[in-house]
Amino acid sequence: MLGYCLFAAHLWRTDIRIIDTLLAFYFLAGGIFIMLVVKMSIASMNNAKRIASVERHNATHDELTSLPNRGLLHTRIEHALTHAKQTDGQVAVLLLDLDRFKEINDTLGHHTGDLVLQQIAPRLRETARDSDTVARLGGDEFCIIMPATDLNAAGILSERIIETMQHPIQVHQHTLKVGASIGISHYPRHAKDTDTLLRHADVAMYTAKRKNTGYAVYDAENDKYSLRRLQLTNELEDAIKHDRLELHYQPIISINDIQILHIEALARWPRSNIEVVLPDDFIPIAERSGLIHKLTRWVLNKATRQLSEWGGLGITCRISINISSSDLQQPGFVEEVKELLSKRRVTADRLIFEITESSMMRDYEQTHTVLNKLHNLGITLAIDDFGTGYSSLAHLKHLPTNLIKIDQSFVVDMTEDENDAVIVRSTIDLAHNMGKKVVAEGVHSREVMDILEILGCDMAQGFHIARPMPASELPAWLSALKENRIDLRTRPVRRAEDNLQPARLKNS
Ligand code: C2E
Ligand code: MG
Ligand code: MG
Repeated sequence: MLGYCLFAAHLWRTDIRIIDTLLAFYFLAGGIFIMLVVKMSIASMNNAKRIASVERHNATHDELTSLPNRGLLHTRIEHALTHAKQTDGQVAVLLLDLDRFKEINDTLGHHTGDLVLQQIAPRLRETARDSDTVARLGGDEFCIIMPATDLNAAGILSERIIETMQHPIQVHQHTLKVGASIGISHYPRHAKDTDTLLRHADVAMYTAKRKNTGYAVYDAENDKYSLRRLQLTNELEDAIKHDRLELHYQPIISINDIQILHIEALARWPRSNIEVVLPDDFIPIAERSGLIHKLTRWVLNKATRQLSEWGGLGITCRISINISSSDLQQPGFVEEVKELLSKRRVTADRLIFEITESSMMRDYEQTHTVLNKLHNLGITLAIDDFGTGYSSLAHLKHLPTNLIKIDQSFVVDMTEDENDAVIVRSTIDLAHNMGKKVVAEGVHSREVMDILEILGCDMAQGFHIARPMPASELPAWLSALKENRIDLRTRPVRRAEDNLQPARLKNS
């Protein structure tokens, strides 16, 4: 009897094994066997419940961050809206997109990107209120639903989120800084249903990105940008792939003897017979969508082919190419440039890479290393749009750059604006003290050329000299310059809207 009880207790306490079941059936049968069957069914019911609950969680939550997913987000917005409609309440929706996340993914790999997202998710969760839903929509996009919230409170949360994003993220040996842009939409002010609220938050988020304001509240005025951005993003990859972009070339001359020194290659996108999209419209799209590497590769290919072609015509000036900061972070970029040069049989000293001041300062260590490699290849490096960033002189001094291009915003009005003139003068002195040459961008008139000459500026670029022009027009312009048919000391100033017109020649 004791043995019977002990065996029964053992069976009840432990997991059921087939052998125990057979023994129970053979020796004891009756009550014990029924007990085992009951236990088995309870265990399998519990198991089924557990699996169902895990599956329910998986179906409604994001695997990587465990935050609610898009499906659950929709359900929660619907609930919040239903409640708000019944109680005359309000709901705020925040859509958040990480800045520079693509660069992390491209440069350090998807695994590092995933680890970054896993650290961002709890930060967002902790910053939001318990009653808010924080969801991941996919990629680097998150959404926060704030029930019973006005626009003011939504703005305050956005500021707090942006502040928490300032703290660097440590992943393995990398210390990464990831910013965020947030778009806000509000019920009942901007929309009455879930889809429209989300769409409007998306428009606001892109406004925040475009204006670099951190966060933005939806404004119907910005809808047109959103539609155009979507269209351009969809078409740009195709345009690059099918060679539908063009390079225009703008001469840069020496100021003292009016000789051509080099030519800046500027991308143009003839999107239709009547529309040419300018870089300010499509470069930011290329950068955000990661297409910039393909675009830079296309520009490098086209420009080096052009150098070989011009070589055949006896045109030996160098070409200046604009390089994005994310190109410098792209693994293998230097090797790719090197291979291209040898394939085209073009020497590295025929190329100048222009990198904006702010790009030079981004991820300084990595940028410095890549710039050194490019410099060692023999490529001249120029700091573009100088004066518009927040670079540290201590850092600039150590970068292997030979040229500084003063941003046109200081040059255009320097004859009228004394502050601008002072900035131009000090930049020229500073650059010369550091052993660098100076190009003034945005030279619109003879007066500006004259002052630049007095200030000792080395080179000039601008509409007064020539507008960017197709490659086919450059040989004629160069001959005209050589034969003194272009008198830069007496030419009238042109209007800005003539930007896309080819440069007109005197007597030609
Ligand atoms: P940037 O490198 O500073 O190029 C000079 C810009 O100033 C060009 O505008 C040029 O057309 C314009 N410009 C030249 N002279 C004058 C002038 O006298 N007055 C005025 N108002 N403007 C003048 P664009 O071609 O529209 O390019 C804008 C910017 O887009 C460039 O600024 C450059 O940062 C970027 N970009 C252009 N092509 C490329 C490219 O192939 N790759 C990359 N990554 N960026 C590019
Ligand atoms: Mg440039
Ligand atoms: Mg510039």
